[in-house]
Amino acid sequence: MLEFKEVRKSFGPLEVLKGVDLTISKGDVVVILGPSGSGKTTLLRCLNFLERADAGSARLSSLEVDLRNATKKEVHAVRQKTAFVFQNYNLFNNKTALENVMEGLVTGRRIPKEAAREKARRALDKVGLSDKLDAYPVQLSGGQQQRVGIARALALDPEVILFDEPTSALDPELVGEVLGVMRQIAADGTTMLVVTHEMQFAKEVASRVVFMDGGVVVESGTPEDIFGRPKEERTRQFLRRVL
Ligand code: ADP
Repeated sequence: MLEFKEVRKSFGPLEVLKGVDLTISKGDVVVILGPSGSGKTTLLRCLNFLERADAGSARLSSLEVDLRNATKKEVHAVRQKTAFVFQNYNLFNNKTALENVMEGLVTGRRIPKEAAREKARRALDKVGLSDKLDAYPVQLSGGQQQRVGIARALALDPEVILFDEPTSALDPELVGEVLGVMRQIAADGTTMLVVTHEMQFAKEVASRVVFMDGGVVVESGTPEDIFGRPKEERTRQFLRRVL
């Protein structure tokens, strides 16, 4: 359903992605693990054109695009099929939870306001925030703000949701509620690509774990493969450090 081929990206002299291939099937929850600086976030950002790759392509269902030379129209088409959950939520502070979720539906998807409001309500209900529709971000905890971020992604009905370290800005006591929501939408069959340091989530929820280091995929497999019998020394070293 989603396939990346030979994705490359440098920042000046720093080669961050050195040819990354990745395939995701419908309903998969793919968790990308790896040390800080290994290129995980950059990979997600290249897929959504938040960064321009230097080379590589992506295929989303029947849409195939060149990640370096995609036209505006192709960028738009990819963004219609994907949604992004940011580390720092990226909510509009001058909009309520409901308005934050409606925004992309009205301006990005051109859905009429009333229908957008209804969709946004349903999405906020799904993440357990039906009592916070009119709250502004400052009135919400970090965990609640991130749940609004997830509702905003869900409301778009994307083919895949890209999560960029969704819990790493949160106080430890707020991580659980966000992972709980992610667990629940995974169980609903949402296709998810998740960069995270939450090993327990990777173990329990991932259908596939991808280990990246130094701008390449070192190995990938089921959680049992990666955590139970990693093949590569680099993977073993990383797991020894974090577990
Ligand atoms: P990870 O998500 O695995 O921690 P990142 O993809 O965030 O890794 O970053 C990989 C490397 O690229 C890091 O060394 C980081 O400093 C660098 N990098 C990321 N974004 C930029 C940027 N916009 N400009 C320059 N360097 C960047």
